[in-house]
Amino acid sequence: MAPMLRFAPSPNGPLHLGHALSAIANERMAAALDRPLRLRMEDIDRIRCRPEYEAMILEDLAWLRVVWTPPLRRQSTRFDRYATVLAELTRRGLVYPSFASRREIADHARVVGVARDPDGAPRFSGDAAVIGAEEAERRRQLGAPAAWRLDMARAVNEVGRPGWTEIGPSGAGRTAAHFDPMSWGDVVLARKETPTSYHLSVVVDDADDGISHIVRGADLLTATAVHRVLQVLLGFPTPLYHHHGLVLGEDGRKLSKSNGALGLGAMRQAGWTADMVRHEATARETPPPPLPTR
Ligand code: GLU
Repeated sequence: MAPMLRFAPSPNGPLHLGHALSAIANERMAAALDRPLRLRMEDIDRIRCRPEYEAMILEDLAWLRVVWTPPLRRQSTRFDRYATVLAELTRRGLVYPSFASRREIADHARVVGVARDPDGAPRFSGDAAVIGAEEAERRRQLGAPAAWRLDMARAVNEVGRPGWTEIGPSGAGRTAAHFDPMSWGDVVLARKETPTSYHLSVVVDDADDGISHIVRGADLLTATAVHRVLQVLLGFPTPLYHHHGLVLGEDGRKLSKSNGALGLGAMRQAGWTADMVRHEATARETPPPPLPTR
């Protein structure tokens, strides 16, 4: 398979230095492999994602001189495709409708102290523990809105716990990485309000677009375990991964609007040049966390 890369921002706000680093890391590997870089808008959240943010992202990338190969992909044009894949997984008994609300899950976790997933959310393994099997069935019969969750135990039973290969910033070097997908619990593949989820659409798009080298921030390192399970279940190819270090805010956390990250447009207005931003983004990359291994 010919190598292909992608930069996949969500147009729910302006790009900041962390995104600039991701775009530059993708550009660097694409150049090293002499292969195209795609741009994909991860715009499944129809409330938070806005056309004006997409326009800002395109402007910022052009200003930064990050070159990408058209056509631009938008996840919002592919809901039918995600629905088809979700239906297949459901038919195979790997996905089930879940009626417990976020509030009910949080309340239950507080009372019984359930384990947390790597993002800190209560690890979920079925409605029965949270609202009771009878109540779940009652809601099902009423046709209540459901989230669709991957039955992780079943999935792992079918495909095991596939690892992945982590590569260096220019595509060289191979390190085996492994993280237990069971620690994520029954992840949501389609939300009550959105007919897909990050995990489902990213895996389907990377496969459909022939993405062979995935370059993204280390905040998504452990989520790769979920993506690998879905890839094997769906018979998709296995990409190589490079998770780059994050740019941290003054509070030591991942850069975000809430810890004072300036948008690239605001930096430009404050007198930063594209070269200064490129340099700053790269210089502020922190070492990625150690690779999870078996
Ligand atoms: N849309 C994700 C983000 O902006 C990136 C997803 C990915 O690269 O897999 O954080």
